[in-house]
Amino acid sequence: MLDYLIIGGGITGVTIARLLQLQGEKSFLVLEAESEPGGLCRTHKVKNHYLDIGGGHFLCTKYPQVYDFIFSHIGKDQFNYYPRVSKVRIHKEILDYPIESNLWQLSIEKQIDYVISVISSGEASGNIEPHNYEEWIHWKLGDMIAENYMLPYNQKIWGVMPEEMDIDWLHKIPRINTKEILKSCLIKNSNKSFMPSHQGFYYPKKGGFQEIFNSIYKFISEKVLLTQPVNKLDFLDNYWVINNEYKAKVVINTAPWPLLYQALDCPSELIDAFDRLQYNSIVVSLWEQEYNHDWHWCYDPSLEKEFHREFYINNFAPHSQNNGMYTETNLKRWPGIGKSWNNGKQPIYEYNNELAYPIPVLGHSKAIQKILSVYKSQNMFGVGRWGQWQYFNSDVCIWEAMKFVDFLTGSSFSV
Ligand SMILES: Cc1cc2nc3c(=O)[nH]c(=O)nc-3n(C[C@H](O)[C@H](O)[C@H](O)COP(=O)(O)OP(=O)(O)OC[C@H]3O[C@@H](n4cnc5c(N)ncnc54)[C@H](O)[C@@H]3O)c2cc1C
Repeated sequence: MLDYLIIGGGITGVTIARLLQLQGEKSFLVLEAESEPGGLCRTHKVKNHYLDIGGGHFLCTKYPQVYDFIFSHIGKDQFNYYPRVSKVRIHKEILDYPIESNLWQLSIEKQIDYVISVISSGEASGNIEPHNYEEWIHWKLGDMIAENYMLPYNQKIWGVMPEEMDIDWLHKIPRINTKEILKSCLIKNSNKSFMPSHQGFYYPKKGGFQEIFNSIYKFISEKVLLTQPVNKLDFLDNYWVINNEYKAKVVINTAPWPLLYQALDCPSELIDAFDRLQYNSIVVSLWEQEYNHDWHWCYDPSLEKEFHREFYINNFAPHSQNNGMYTETNLKRWPGIGKSWNNGKQPIYEYNNELAYPIPVLGHSKAIQKILSVYKSQNMFGVGRWGQWQYFNSDVCIWEAMKFVDFLTGSSFSV
């Protein structure tokens, strides 16, 4: 009988395993469905390009303990640090991100239209904050930014209409006040402290983002069984039987809950909640193309282009082969293997992340809370991006793993 069985060998599962090991625990096992570990934090070497197949991955966190944990596994000197250079392509012009504080970079006529629109936004007019994402964007940022940038961009990345989405995850969205927008246009400069997240980031000097994962994984690799999808979970009084093979007192799920629906023989009271857990799929496509700028990535809201973001690998991984560039495209907008793209070119490699983002559709928070509380009473817990069904980056997954292991072992070892 195992003390702990962890489902999923991504950064969350592997961090939990490593923290248990550091606390002297021996009775744990990780089951990973794929033939390689790492989940969304994987890097594939294609020719001599380092491609982060889960899309653009950069290390940045507000939690000092997360940096301490990572840098105790892979030295800080193994990273380059870059002040973020990210752009938005709009009206065929290029603006710095975030657009709200860089409207001054538009032509004067457009600046006037955008500023008037921001000043007449719902929030500036004192209207009540709406509850769906589409209305919230208009209310917060005004019609011009909503219609030319935020709504098409969000439609592209999420693959659902913003009106179907909640607003309880909006700490991810820049919130800048009208006074600052006006000021930036008048002084023709922006206040850099308004960058909502990732003012700068670390990226490994060798390989790709997966180097971070590998540095943790190497300590517990013997405890990870690959090509072992969990497809049967039975709760017998006070322990779990997994795949009719393993017994464990506690199960820790880091895999997407909908993939466990059948394994759990989902009780009827949870069917609606499982239905509320929607996710999107993102295809990452590698291209060879010249670029002569220092941008790290660029957001593209144009509905004429399939992809929504492009990344310039050499500008954050100079050791990668020249002219490597990759795009992220929602699977619903992806032309398909061998099909031609609107740019008339063909990528040299592609990877589909079937589960990329949990979509914050209306009602998702209540749904995951219900699922977590039912299984918690049976000693099965959800941790991480999928386990907690939240738009967490890998640093937050590590942070949640730290808090969870402390809770589990009744210690304050990690946090
Ligand atoms: C486009 C994009 C950009 C991102 N950018 C950043 C960034 O810049 N910085 C950052 O820190 N983070 C970023 N993230 C987020 C980061 O990738 C995730 O937060 C993190 O990798 C999630 O780790 P995880 O272990 O929780 O989930 P995953 O990495 O998805 O791992 C879950 C694992 O569970 C396995 N699994 C699934 N079903 C089963 C089953 N039935 N049985 C056993 N195993 C199973 C999967 O194969 C997978 O290995 C980004 C994500 C995306 C999609």
